[in-house]
Amino acid sequence: MIAIQCRWMFSLAGGVPRATPGLLTLAQWDGGWRVVAVGRNESTGSPHDLGDFAILPPLTNAHCHLEFSDLTEPLGEPGMSLPAWIKEVVRHRRAADTEGQRRASYLAGLAESRRAGVATVGDITTLPWSPDWISRQDASACPGVAMLELLSLDVARVDDLIQTASRHLSNATPWRAGLSPHAPYSTTPELVDRACQLCRETGAPLAMHLAESREELELLASGGGAFRELLESFGVWRERVFDQPRGSIDVLQQLARAPCTLVVHGNYLGHGEIELLSQHRDRMTVVYCPRTHAFFRHDEHPLPSLLAAGVPVALGTDSRASNPDLSVWNELRCAAERHPSVSPAELFRMVTTTPALALGFAPMDLLGCPIESLVAAPIGAGGDPWESLVEIPNVAPLLHFWQPPDSRGEL
Ligand SMILES: [Zn+2]
Repeated sequence: MIAIQCRWMFSLAGGVPRATPGLLTLAQWDGGWRVVAVGRNESTGSPHDLGDFAILPPLTNAHCHLEFSDLTEPLGEPGMSLPAWIKEVVRHRRAADTEGQRRASYLAGLAESRRAGVATVGDITTLPWSPDWISRQDASACPGVAMLELLSLDVARVDDLIQTASRHLSNATPWRAGLSPHAPYSTTPELVDRACQLCRETGAPLAMHLAESREELELLASGGGAFRELLESFGVWRERVFDQPRGSIDVLQQLARAPCTLVVHGNYLGHGEIELLSQHRDRMTVVYCPRTHAFFRHDEHPLPSLLAAGVPVALGTDSRASNPDLSVWNELRCAAERHPSVSPAELFRMVTTTPALALGFAPMDLLGCPIESLVAAPIGAGGDPWESLVEIPNVAPLLHFWQPPDSRGEL
């Protein structure tokens, strides 16, 4: 066994964020090293001192689209409307549509996530994604949920899509499987209901983009606006889907029937919707994507109201199509800057415990954690550890900074 010490360690024992002077005992376990004690074990000698470093448990990215990870910069221009941006996304997808390109992009995103200290991801996948794309090694280094995107305004296609969804959920995969009816402007209420029902039967998690833009609210309320023009230009407009006024709350009432739902974005959730989410907080989590929110220059996110109502909120990167990288740590930094009233400890929970639970994983804390999954970063020496934490510009796997000693160094 060996011990390592550092300036601060941040943990979540019992779900409570804690910052304490860092001291961990590691032991060899199953061919690797694992944390066997938080604090010093009697049988270790002098700890290896990392100095002014912080050690953190693994991070979870609640929402991404790894398939766009080949992009070197976001599509379109900051401040553009969501319907205009979707045109750019469709153009990009058509340009890079071979299976080989998609797979390479996906794996690049997975590797980038690992380098950013992310050990669990909730990914929205589109066909031809296949479980074969993820090696067993990738799956153990970065477990996740592959949430199959379901998208069509054609009621006649619902049965086919649900059959495909059912096959996806029953496919053996090194990752878990979930579903993602895409958004209210790209799905029918029938498709959303059937997807929720399938998730109820299987216990699979479900994610849906919701209350993301003003244009979405306008389409649901009036059946018109920029989304209608977009859908008409694609030749997929269906009058019948939008002939009755609806709101985000109607969609949330459908989603509340699934066992475990991630409500992605929620930029324009109002008081009534937040109350409904609060009533279902045991199974509904909002995923806030701060830098994507900033890219589109949306109105201020209702994060403080959601937290005040007890709604679980997780952070996500969304994709490289609206974000420069896949670091969920950078999302935490952005959220800290935009919402100074939210405590750093609360933000820390939003990239660890809350997203892990929302995706159906037991949150990983320091104790028992394999060394490959531990996260570390240089940290300022003085002051309040939580304030210093949100000042950290970048985190990386601990192994990036420190390797356990070889046999000669073991004590
Ligand atoms: Zn998304």
